[in-house]
Amino acid sequence: MSATSSTPQNAQDTMIRLSGVEKWYGDHHVLTNVSADVKRGQVVVLCGPSGSGKSTLIRTMNHLEPINEGSIIVNGENVHARGININRLRSHIGFVFQQFNLFPHLSVLENVTCGPLWVNKADARETRALAHELLEKVGLAHKAEAYPNQLSGGQQQRVAIARALAMKPPVMLFDEPTSALDPEMVGEVLSVMKALASEGMTMVCVTHEMKFARDVSDEVWFMDQGQLLEVADPEAFFTAPNHPRAQKFLSDIHAG
Ligand code: ADP
Ligand code: MG
Repeated sequence: MSATSSTPQNAQDTMIRLSGVEKWYGDHHVLTNVSADVKRGQVVVLCGPSGSGKSTLIRTMNHLEPINEGSIIVNGENVHARGININRLRSHIGFVFQQFNLFPHLSVLENVTCGPLWVNKADARETRALAHELLEKVGLAHKAEAYPNQLSGGQQQRVAIARALAMKPPVMLFDEPTSALDPEMVGEVLSVMKALASEGMTMVCVTHEMKFARDVSDEVWFMDQGQLLEVADPEAFFTAPNHPRAQKFLSDIHAG
């Protein structure tokens, strides 16, 4: 069937579409009417003050958090559709957390292969080859047989990225991937992310690393109090943010 007929052009270019997303925790309105698109291949940095709803928003994108209203389409799939297989969905959207959560009793290689083997029932030999390739990509080919507790935090986070990539996700979500790291390890994780971005991976990254945002992102999203207040080109955002609260956020960062 022709892909052109009834599908609007932008539906194919859009990896994530948030439409009127609303979320409450009890009486607390944490996401208010959030609408935005992430295009295929785009790198979005989501920033804003602590408690503004960044984690909540990114977690709704793979249904780690339910929403109360609105819709979220990821790679053509309605993430909050009734009856959706949440485990299957989550396993196919890459998510990297602040805490790396590797399996301590599995080797680095096994941490990377377990998703494809257990969830996808993938071929063992192919999966091992893929895992070696991914460990190479994150600079840890020599650690394949090591265990997580033998690795630094930066190395563990790079394994966590390789593990997410092993599921061949169409999009990678990062929630403060460098915030739990000692400062000297931040760079090695950001450079892996930068390499991924340059290969065309679609990425949404919650991060306080403003230099990364400025150098690597295609778009900056600024949130405050559950609202997406500004969606901007990074250069424009960092030189002249529009919204007064974005201006305050940036001047607070520079003052600190
Ligand atoms: P950010 O990641 O920007 O720091 P969060 O998304 O973690 O913000 O939190 C947004 C708001 O929702 C905050 O006020 C936070 O206290 C509240 N919140 C987050 N998680 C929960 C939860 N599980 N239950 C109740 N309130 C929550
Ligand atoms: Mg957070």
